[in-house]
Amino acid sequence: MAKRKGQSSASRKRAQQTTGISWLEKLKNNKHILKKIGLVAIILFATAAFAVAGVLISYLAAAPALDPAALEAVEASYIIDRDGHEIAQLHAIENRIVIPIDEIPEQLQKAFIAIEDERFKKHRGVDLLGFGRAILVNIRDRSFSQGASTITQQLIRNVLLEQKKTIKRKVQEMWLALKLERIKSKEEILEMYLNRIYFGNGVYGVEAASLAYFDKSVGDLELAEAALLAGIVRSPEYYNPFENDEAATGRMKLVLGNMKRLNYISPEEYEGAVGTELEFAEPSTTAYPYPYFVDYVVHHELIEILENIPEFGSREEAYEAIYNGGLRIYTTMHTAYQKHLETVLNRATLYPATRSINISALSEAVKANNGQLPANYPNAYIDEENGILQPQSAMVLADPKSGEIWALGGGRDYSKNRNELLRYLSLRQPGSAIKPLLEYAPSFNEGLLGLGSVLDDAPLVGPQGWRPENFDGAFRGLVTVRRALAHSYNIPAIRTYTEHIGMQKGAEMAYQMGISTYDPRKAQPVPSWAIGSREVTALDMAQGYSVLANNGVKMKVHTVRRIENRSGETIFEQKVMPEQILSREAAFMTTSVLQDVVTSTTARGLSGLGRPLAAKTGTTDDARDIYLAAYAPNVVATFWMGYDIKDMGKISSGWSYSSGMIRELFREVFKTLPRENFAPQPSGVVRVEVCTKSGLLPNEHCREAETVTTDYFLKNQAPRLTCDKHVQIDICKESGLLAGEYCPSDQIEQITYFERPDYLVTDANWKRGAGRAPLDAEEKPPEEFCDLHKEFAGRFVYFSASTPRENEARLSWLYRGDTVKEYQLYRRLKSAESSEAELIIKLGSNEDSYTDRQLQGGASYIYTLYAINEQGARSQPMETEIKVKEASEHPGIPMRPGKPKNLESSWDGEKVTLTWQAADDRAEEFVIQRVGIESPLGTEIGRVNAETNRLDYSFSDYFSKPGTYTYSIVAHNSAGSSLPSVKIVTIPKETGSNESGTYAGLFAAPLRRLLAACRSWVSLLF
Ligand SMILES: [Zn+2]
Ligand SMILES: [Zn+2]
Repeated sequence: MAKRKGQSSASRKRAQQTTGISWLEKLKNNKHILKKIGLVAIILFATAAFAVAGVLISYLAAAPALDPAALEAVEASYIIDRDGHEIAQLHAIENRIVIPIDEIPEQLQKAFIAIEDERFKKHRGVDLLGFGRAILVNIRDRSFSQGASTITQQLIRNVLLEQKKTIKRKVQEMWLALKLERIKSKEEILEMYLNRIYFGNGVYGVEAASLAYFDKSVGDLELAEAALLAGIVRSPEYYNPFENDEAATGRMKLVLGNMKRLNYISPEEYEGAVGTELEFAEPSTTAYPYPYFVDYVVHHELIEILENIPEFGSREEAYEAIYNGGLRIYTTMHTAYQKHLETVLNRATLYPATRSINISALSEAVKANNGQLPANYPNAYIDEENGILQPQSAMVLADPKSGEIWALGGGRDYSKNRNELLRYLSLRQPGSAIKPLLEYAPSFNEGLLGLGSVLDDAPLVGPQGWRPENFDGAFRGLVTVRRALAHSYNIPAIRTYTEHIGMQKGAEMAYQMGISTYDPRKAQPVPSWAIGSREVTALDMAQGYSVLANNGVKMKVHTVRRIENRSGETIFEQKVMPEQILSREAAFMTTSVLQDVVTSTTARGLSGLGRPLAAKTGTTDDARDIYLAAYAPNVVATFWMGYDIKDMGKISSGWSYSSGMIRELFREVFKTLPRENFAPQPSGVVRVEVCTKSGLLPNEHCREAETVTTDYFLKNQAPRLTCDKHVQIDICKESGLLAGEYCPSDQIEQITYFERPDYLVTDANWKRGAGRAPLDAEEKPPEEFCDLHKEFAGRFVYFSASTPRENEARLSWLYRGDTVKEYQLYRRLKSAESSEAELIIKLGSNEDSYTDRQLQGGASYIYTLYAINEQGARSQPMETEIKVKEASEHPGIPMRPGKPKNLESSWDGEKVTLTWQAADDRAEEFVIQRVGIESPLGTEIGRVNAETNRLDYSFSDYFSKPGTYTYSIVAHNSAGSSLPSVKIVTIPKETGSNESGTYAGLFAAPLRRLLAACRSWVSLLF
């Protein structure tokens, strides 16, 4: 195919070469043919020309009238507040300073002419030659060094025509330019142009541009500076040095090159200027009031609206319209609230310790230091003059019913750092402030949880070994949804997000409520989103909470109500369509809990305002970001505080600062905003009595455990089952374990327990340490049976009591059976039937008696005795009763008893009988001793209890070993012993005589004693 084509074209060439002359001659010879062709061409051309002319005439007829006054007019746009007051002019007087042409240096004029329209002085408004050449040059150089429109055309276009690039507009532009040149001189046109043209950053006219970019008047500009300004106007958003230093300088060189070529400057001047190091002014701060609000209107909302209006079409043309289109922009700003909000945000006392930090230097240093703060922070970065105050904050105030934003605060100390101006658009972590939007309200909405449902605040291990903690390191076990949300426990929130609503669904609903960063199609939700790891803007948070405030209905938040063009025609009207995102019921339930946050938890700082308010605080783990969202039915406010560089510091007790800020804001707002109550309980919600540990209907044991409350549920989702987690169990009081067969009945009591589900105990991988279980694990019943009361083999033979003296009881016993470890003696007053037996003493296994002193004289006591074996098991009890002797009438210091009187002895052949009389009433007992050869130190052979009012006593000693013995009797009481009464008794070898001392003789007696002794010893031996 290609080959054939080549051949044919080559042969055609040859044909032309060979037949060229004859073809011309033929034509000459056929003049009438030529005439015919010419005629047809003329007719065709005329027809086309008429058609084009028709179109052109229609264009020209539609062209706007040429009003030279309009070319000079300042066409500012105005921002108007909600009450119709103008609050800002979008290029204020400073931004457009009109100066006469003779004050504009010739060199500067020439710079513009050189780059934009070098034949300006020669053409008549339209420069067809220049137009063509510009196109050729631009094609050759592949640059845009040559302007395609004359200065006159540009002036016309900027002022009078819409910005859309069409043939129609081009024709009108040329037509009006020609007209303008007939009524205005070149000087006048250039003057209008130079005062009218846009230089970016909201700056119009050369003088304002000169001040803005070089901080000097046009009269003081250097050649290079003049060339730079001339270079900007082709594309002010691209070539201005604040946006793109490099492009601006490159463009400047082009301007200088053109000036040299046109001999406006000498080659030396050119070289000098090209080599000049330019010094730019600081970007100027705003020229209008309320920049935090107006900047949002202009750069975020308005620009987007205008871009979508076909008349403007592009971002650049939208800006042109804003700064030069004479628009009237009616906004939602409430000027009084805006002023107040700015005052509050600037109040230093509402912040923690403040420093002025050079943020750009610090962020460079952080970048160079692998994202870590450099070692010389903060001292090396403190900059009192040009630093930015830290920490910073942001605040949004809006009307949830209409979506109208009343006031916006992007920080304090409106700063020059453009990137951080509007901090309500900065992405920061919301912490717990996200919980109502991401998991709780969605779960209520889907009927998955009621406020009395329970969630387990017990240790939880998430993906990748994530072990979340609560703010205080405690796990509270089963808690109601209301408590979990009001107290902001993290674990229940994570369970709600991952186990109830589900991460995708929760994210989707938060996104619908207005949290733009939560779109699950753009980011993969993870469990830590539940506690605020995913970043948000304060503005989005205001949108999200407005849905809760407005009974589940979303009204898109906005600042622009209406836009009028310069002719007063409305070109945009905000129409917000209500969207029901949450059910009324879900919004009601969420608000009900968030009111608790104000009355009793982290937003108590708002409770003194005398209004029904709901709120939720948020603090990130490391206290870098502090959030608070608060609302009433007719107002919503969000607040953020933090450092511009995220790791710069923490804010401890953040909730007190956030509550302080919103409180101060509301205090003023509530002076004019009417009081409104939250919506009443919707019909789809019921209030139900519920056990707080099971989320089910309470039983009698739940009541005993005092775990009964009433709370809201969706009607069709209220609990129907009764709590089966609270149970009553027999427990042995002594062991605290389950009562067994041998536990004494008086030791068994019924205790109500909570059977909580199984749980994890933290190990060393948890941030706050090992060994922590949920607090309600202690409420679980014991699992083992009593190990104290086991089978016991043994018993008491007897257990008796006497009262030897006043106020005392003497107890003695005999036990047979298992090896005893100890005895336990209990006592109670008989008269007080109900009184508990009291353990008075534990005694060792070798004891068999005990004297209980300091009793109440005349009272009757019941004693109970247990034996405890080695295994800790207890015997059956043994009881005895005693009435205690009353105190004597001579109380006081007790005296020793007197020596027993009238001691007599007798021997009757088998026993020695002793008789005596008590010397007084004081004796408690008499101790009888016998001293003989076999027991030279004496043996106690018996005791006789003394009794009150008894005089005569006797004691028999069944003892018949012949010999001479000494009997002694001593009276005894608690004060001591009497002197002994002594009687010598001789037991004869033969029975029969009871006379002692009968054979006593001078010789015989000692001899007989010796013999008796010998016999005794012998008898002892055998
Ligand atoms: Zn219960
Ligand atoms: Zn027991």
